[in-house]
Amino acid sequence: MAGNIMLEVVTPDKSLVSEEAQIVVAPGEYGEFGVLIGHTSFLTTLKIGMLRFKDSGGGERLVFVNGGFAEVLPNKVTILAESAERRKDIDVERAKVALKRAEERLAEAGRKENIDARRAQAAVQRAIARLKIAGTRRAA
Ligand code: ATP
Repeated sequence: MAGNIMLEVVTPDKSLVSEEAQIVVAPGEYGEFGVLIGHTSFLTTLKIGMLRFKDSGGGERLVFVNGGFAEVLPNKVTILAESAERRKDIDVERAKVALKRAEERLAEAGRKENIDARRAQAAVQRAIARLKIAGTRRAA
């Protein structure tokens, strides 16, 4: 089916994206999924990772998402993320510092499966995903 789909990306404190997209590809909890206009409706949780979309001009855009939910409707995708940044807004130095801090915490927490270790692992994942997205040269 021809046409664009509306994409909204929101966090508890801001709206990051509100525009039409040719295609949206999101990091679903059970794997990446792509959405075009006319897709069947569904709801899913998201994992930490990269949301990609092609804007109405065909430019590829990247957004970091820190987990959350996606609601897919035939004409609209809504992403509710705990935190998120557009690729151009990612502060690389901050992510590097966060990665180092989280790795140190992980080392302190040791091998035990405890809350500190899980939190540190999630912080490592966030920082690595941000650095990966910021380092991707192909899009804005
Ligand atoms: P940090 O330890 O640096 O705060 P974090 O992964 O714990 O990183 P989050 O809880 O995901 O941070 O986000 C808190 C707020 O800071 C959000 O508004 C998020 O968009 C912003 N933020 C976090 N890291 C970065 C970054 N590297 N670049 C830009 N914004 C960031």
